[in-house]
Amino acid sequence: MSLRARLALLYTTIVGGILLLFGTAVYVTVGVTLTNQVDNTLEFRAKAIIPNIVIGTGGQLRVQTLPAQDFTAGVYIQVWGKNNQLIDASPNMPDSSRPMDTSGLEATRPVFHDVPVSGTRLRVLSVPLAVSNRIVGVLQVGASLSVVETTQMVLLRVLLVGAIISMVTAGLGGWISTQHALSPLEAVTQTALQITRADDLSRRIPYQGPPEDEVGQLINAFNQTLGRLENLFNTQRRFLADVGHELRTPLTVIKGNIDLMRRMQQTDDESMDSIVSEVDRLTRLVGDLLLLAQAESGKLPMANQTVELDTVLLDVMHQMRVLARDRLQLKLGEIDQVLVCGDQDRLKQVLVNLIGNSIKYTPPGGEIIVGLGKSGTRARLTISDNGPGIPPEDIPHIFERFYRGEKSRTRSKDGKGFGLGLSIAYWIVRNHEGTIEVSQRQPHGTTFAVWLPLAQGECKEEIGAT
Ligand code: ADP
Repeated sequence: MSLRARLALLYTTIVGGILLLFGTAVYVTVGVTLTNQVDNTLEFRAKAIIPNIVIGTGGQLRVQTLPAQDFTAGVYIQVWGKNNQLIDASPNMPDSSRPMDTSGLEATRPVFHDVPVSGTRLRVLSVPLAVSNRIVGVLQVGASLSVVETTQMVLLRVLLVGAIISMVTAGLGGWISTQHALSPLEAVTQTALQITRADDLSRRIPYQGPPEDEVGQLINAFNQTLGRLENLFNTQRRFLADVGHELRTPLTVIKGNIDLMRRMQQTDDESMDSIVSEVDRLTRLVGDLLLLAQAESGKLPMANQTVELDTVLLDVMHQMRVLARDRLQLKLGEIDQVLVCGDQDRLKQVLVNLIGNSIKYTPPGGEIIVGLGKSGTRARLTISDNGPGIPPEDIPHIFERFYRGEKSRTRSKDGKGFGLGLSIAYWIVRNHEGTIEVSQRQPHGTTFAVWLPLAQGECKEEIGAT
């Protein structure tokens, strides 16, 4: 059953239920009120008659006169003596030989009973007549309940017709109003189907209504999901294209060298060196990709030990000086003793990637200054070079996977970068609850600053990889 039909049915049931309760309450209240009125009339009549009943010394009864108005007011009277002997009855009684209420003749106190008499129902009040606590007869005063019954019947019909009209109106109203309220959802369904059919994640669902209502919020959430999916889809597509491209270049070089050696029918050292260097390059690429994949899936294993960052830095500087050779000046600026919590090898990798980039992109004769200090509860590691700097339009993208600045592609003569070094550094620093900042140096050059929380006492065993 559709949501719309279910809502319409729900409205109808709720209205029907309320009307049933309300109708029952009205019906019962009216019945009780009218019956009470009849009871009051009967008591009033009985009180008026009793003074006219004379009880003889032997207990025999005699009725002087019955009040005249009783006969015209639709009130029936019977006076029964000892041994259920009829003493007197109002002349309007259709059958005076039988008591109006047989069980009432046994009453020891005034009782009301509803009894059927000659096709109609009568309300009968039986009042025992007693002398010195001895019951010598019974006065029965009865009145027809037809007015009460007719009123209740009319009321029942009015309530039934009213309930049916209200339920139909509620059902129709519910059907129409839910159609109006749910129509934007139709649009959501149609757009979702079109997106699936056309494989077009760039589409969004239009909504004219207020954005803060439930449907507006749903559409907004759906559009946000679409945006995120589109982004992921595009990233994945770009990533596959990039990986394909990066893998093809070294493979082409390796194949070219092998073809050459085959044609020459001998191995030559130059080709072998080239093959080894390309295999190394592929190995690095695969390693970097695996690391990033682990980092992004939250499965990057990370130690969490106390790391003497200054010692690690000196170690890396030693390695990097070999790379810089006489081409560049790699200087150590101010260096402080700094302890952080984390994975020593990964932090070393951050330093290698950042200092390696400075060496790669700074032209011969340039200068790189590395410093380490503390600021509040954080360690601050800086790598400054006076290379060409990073163009402002590249800065927002340099931490993306495979992003390489336009100049870097053409400038780095060995073409060894994959555009993964900064992504890896970013992930490692993030997993140490730190941040990386990049800024331009005047007149030209780049400064990378890595902020890491200082170790506060013992390091906890594991830090989460997210
Ligand atoms: P790769 O160095 O392999 O290209 P990275 O992720 O390490 O990839 O760096 C991304 C880009 O950031 C580089 O292509 C380069 O354009 C730019 N970049 C990084 N470090 C520097 C630097 N010290 N000087 C100039 N440009 C840099």
